[in-house]
Amino acid sequence: MNSLQASRNQVLQHIADACKQAQRAPETVQLLAVSKTHPSECLREMYQTGQRAFGENYLQEALDKIENLNDLAIEWHFIGHVQRNKTKHLAASFAWVHGVDRLIIAERLSKQREANQAPLNICLQVNIDAQESKDGCQPNEVAELVKNISQLPHLKLRGLMVIPAPNNTHAFLDAKQLFDAVKQEHAQPEDWDTLSMGMSGDMVEAIAAGSTMVRVGTALFGARDYSNKV
Ligand SMILES: *Cc1c(COP(=O)(O)O)cnc(C)c1O
Repeated sequence: MNSLQASRNQVLQHIADACKQAQRAPETVQLLAVSKTHPSECLREMYQTGQRAFGENYLQEALDKIENLNDLAIEWHFIGHVQRNKTKHLAASFAWVHGVDRLIIAERLSKQREANQAPLNICLQVNIDAQESKDGCQPNEVAELVKNISQLPHLKLRGLMVIPAPNNTHAFLDAKQLFDAVKQEHAQPEDWDTLSMGMSGDMVEAIAAGSTMVRVGTALFGARDYSNKV
């Protein structure tokens, strides 16, 4: 067994254990493999272990990999900050965008998504623990954004994404509460099924709080090397 297979098995086992502890079915939590900074060959090898969903943060790097790996049935997720002038590429090349935090971004993504493509899956990023330097809308803006974004034709609004400060696991409970509140208030609960939270260091706590998608990089691929990033 190669090392990526071993690390993926270990992460899947952690997810299963955390689900069991939380009395949840293991299939209620999806593993997103966060592959930023790792070369295409590494993703190809991870794909061969059965992994299909990959998350990338940097647009140009991601577009290069999408091109290199276009013979594979990868589901591409963009998990970085969404800049207004990048929406066209995101709409064209990704299946999911997790970092939407303003209406104008969602409007552009919907407009730029081709009608012959499947709707683009969206998570609304919330600054759940009021970090000063963080992206994300405020919790009290969520209801209005959900109302407006869910009307856009080429998007499917799936849920919320949060990146709390390290060790602030209470923020996961706040995110779950906000997620449930939207589900109760809005008309399209069938699409509202995703709570994207938890990374290598805190996926157990995130799953205990109700995460449905953990975004895991380091525990799958090892430490990242940023030395050749500009
Ligand atoms: C890099 C990144 C991750 C993965 O973090 P690890 O600690 O390596 O698991 C998850 N989510 C986002 C938004 C990231 O940028």
